[in-house]
Amino acid sequence: MANILIVEDEPGIASFVSKGLRAAGHQPTAVGTGREAINHALTDGYDLVILDIGLPDIDGFEVLERMRGSGSKTPVIILTARASVDDTVAGLEGGADDYMPKPFRFEELLARIRLRLRSETGGGDLGVLSVGDLSLDLRARTVTVGGEVIELAAREFELLEAFMRHPDQVLSREQLLSRVWGYDFDPDSNVVDVYVGYLRKKVGAGRIVTVWRVGYRLTTRG
Ligand code: CA
Repeated sequence: MANILIVEDEPGIASFVSKGLRAAGHQPTAVGTGREAINHALTDGYDLVILDIGLPDIDGFEVLERMRGSGSKTPVIILTARASVDDTVAGLEGGADDYMPKPFRFEELLARIRLRLRSETGGGDLGVLSVGDLSLDLRARTVTVGGEVIELAAREFELLEAFMRHPDQVLSREQLLSRVWGYDFDPDSNVVDVYVGYLRKKVGAGRIVTVWRVGYRLTTRG
């Protein structure tokens, strides 16, 4: 569990990230202005800061500059519009550890957070999830079934990761859609069903059970 400061002025994105972080076992705090961000980042003991660039008062670059200027070494992941990636790369020289172009998928943000937290603590959790004879290596991004490596596309991998984090638990289409495809994805899309189909072909059809009108569940039996 990590204490994570979210600096984001769009309430929809702030709540999307907060919910996801809480579900992943972290303790998120969200603020919507640069000034609040500086106060929080410098006074409270956060393990990581997720920092939006476009804020209503001072921008994220200035927040970062003030943090680093005050000696804060807290890892910072910048959120930025895709069109401003060039500016952001310049921002990285200002002391950010990573950046994430918007729109982004939660699993992708979570992977980067994990990586940053891990490099802070100097290793430790190697990030291998195991459910029965399924094994998923988060760092190498490989999956084995009964010891045999299988090839998965990026979304298939992320979908399997979402299931393996919650074995024997029903996950709704909406949960899977927001975790794997992102907050801006059409909720009426059938992409989850399509990808569950792909995944079943690769890991074995019986492992992912359809729960009628609710969603899907990764079973640890059979
Ligand atoms: Ca913004």
